[in-house]
Amino acid sequence: MKATRFFLPILLLAVNFFKGNAQEIELNRIEPPNWWTGMQVEKLQLLVYGKNISHTQPVIQYEGVTIKSVTQPENENYLFVDLLISTSAKPGKIKIAFIKEDKEVHNYLYELKPKSNREFNELSINGADVMYLITPDRFANGDTANDATEDTIEKHDRDNPDGRHGGDLKGIIDHFEYIKDLGVTTLWLNPFLENDQPKYSYHGYGISDFYKTDSRLGTNADFLALTQLCHKNGMKMIMDQVFNHCGSGHWWMNDLPFNDWLNQWESYTNSSFTNISISDPYSSQSDIDLHTKGWFDKNLPDLNQQNPFMETYLIQNSIWWIEYAQLDGIRMDTYPYPDKDAMAHWVQRIFQEYPNFYIVAETSELNTASLSYWNSGKRNKDGYESHVNSVSDYPLYYATLKAFGEQNQAYWLYESLAYDFLYGTPFNNKIFNGNHDVQRLYNHLNEDIDKIKLSMAFVLTTRGIPQIYYGDELLFDGPKPPGTTDGVLRKDFPGGWEGDERNLFTAKDRTDEEKEVHDYVQRILKWRKTAEEIHKGKLKHYKPGPSGKETIYVYFRYLDDRSTMVIINNGSDDIPSFSLSHYGESLEGYSLGTDIISGKVYPTLKTIALKANTAYIIELEH
Ligand code: CA
Repeated sequence: MKATRFFLPILLLAVNFFKGNAQEIELNRIEPPNWWTGMQVEKLQLLVYGKNISHTQPVIQYEGVTIKSVTQPENENYLFVDLLISTSAKPGKIKIAFIKEDKEVHNYLYELKPKSNREFNELSINGADVMYLITPDRFANGDTANDATEDTIEKHDRDNPDGRHGGDLKGIIDHFEYIKDLGVTTLWLNPFLENDQPKYSYHGYGISDFYKTDSRLGTNADFLALTQLCHKNGMKMIMDQVFNHCGSGHWWMNDLPFNDWLNQWESYTNSSFTNISISDPYSSQSDIDLHTKGWFDKNLPDLNQQNPFMETYLIQNSIWWIEYAQLDGIRMDTYPYPDKDAMAHWVQRIFQEYPNFYIVAETSELNTASLSYWNSGKRNKDGYESHVNSVSDYPLYYATLKAFGEQNQAYWLYESLAYDFLYGTPFNNKIFNGNHDVQRLYNHLNEDIDKIKLSMAFVLTTRGIPQIYYGDELLFDGPKPPGTTDGVLRKDFPGGWEGDERNLFTAKDRTDEEKEVHDYVQRILKWRKTAEEIHKGKLKHYKPGPSGKETIYVYFRYLDDRSTMVIINNGSDDIPSFSLSHYGESLEGYSLGTDIISGKVYPTLKTIALKANTAYIIELEH
């Protein structure tokens, strides 16, 4: 918005009263762009931005809404306005008048909408769910008109693995049937907010506007439409949010509100990327600062969550998206990098508004001990509690690579889970065998179809909330030798672009191997939807055998009078008669079982013939 011309002469007269020589007053944006009535917390803090806007006084006359305080930060182009929205306030448009010298310089109609009355009686995303992670630029191009847009720098270049390929939200909507038919229940997109960066903007983690969908992916309304499509089909949406940093193309970068809005250094300083320095009882303050206040990358300015206005800005941004887009969960990027106390406040504030809301922290930790520091319900010796109800289970991921990729044994799976006593809520852990940051499953597991199937069977039946990366079910390849960029991992889904040689969204263009793995994953996913023992059941597992080889891993998921036995033969030998006598304590009361993959019925539970490199998921019956 521009200053109203009518007032300009008056403004010019007033200039002398301000040492800043205010010539003009602008109002460019107010964030959050709207809010809701009926929220648990009555406070709302508006960030108001526009040239010399701090030379005005905001005034509101609206029943139930009052201005509690106004803060002028160091930069006169900002105002932070604290509102109190009482429970009696009704939805409507609040006129905020910006007054100077008794004259209204600007006004803004700020909308209060009624809050939806969604309630989560259990964790909003839980063991019954399976997430499907999509890199939106790389899935399908539903609208070629937005491949390059006027309001963003980087243009379309599908030949560049690190360039923008043109995929968008409409492409995901257009191919929703494929996703639904696969049998996953929840969508997670890499960030879709604007990334107005000159290059590498496609991955989404350099956000330049926390309230705006990137125009090359669509609009906020498109994202809402996708979420509504999920809900209409009994599915859920999780949003990837990034609070550690923004993109260097962010609108505020040339005009920061506070001197300490970002963590700034005398010369460029990288994060030390040492997560353990945060949980380390012997850590030096300089190591903590280097990790949390160093920058993730030159193009990713580090946000200072210790500035209370920044903390509030980020918290409200999350809540805005939950309410606007009807989110079911949030995945928070690089969780151990922002200020940990601010992040704990963020989680608590969300729970205050939305009890049982699912939040998963991205925590790229090598081992369970360091990961457990970030898990809710864990009593840390330093008294810190993150409150976050789910963590990304990287230790179990690495265990699957060792078990299925590097060695033909299963001990690592057993050992990794044996450390679960360290976690507060291990059954909420997000478990996965691939994502946008790691080599493709196909390459990690040496292009071995049998091992890929074993990995899928394991991730979809052990404890936790599984997530698979788009295309791993169709053997997308993406090696990651040193020196390659991640663009090669985040492949275009064949068939997502007009003129693609093959269309893997439909069965007819798939190779036999692609068909085999896709159908295998689909079969487990569809069965999993009805398997309450997987959703809510306990886990009991047995030390892999035979001794010295540790190739065969047996575990049970059980709940009340239901039980499923999973046998993973990770060895290269067929075993014609494998005795089940060792598992008697779990088999007691059950007399037969059916393998949900092959359909084969086992009329007795005494011995079973195991094929090499094969998983058996056997539903037990009394
Ligand atoms: Ca497009």
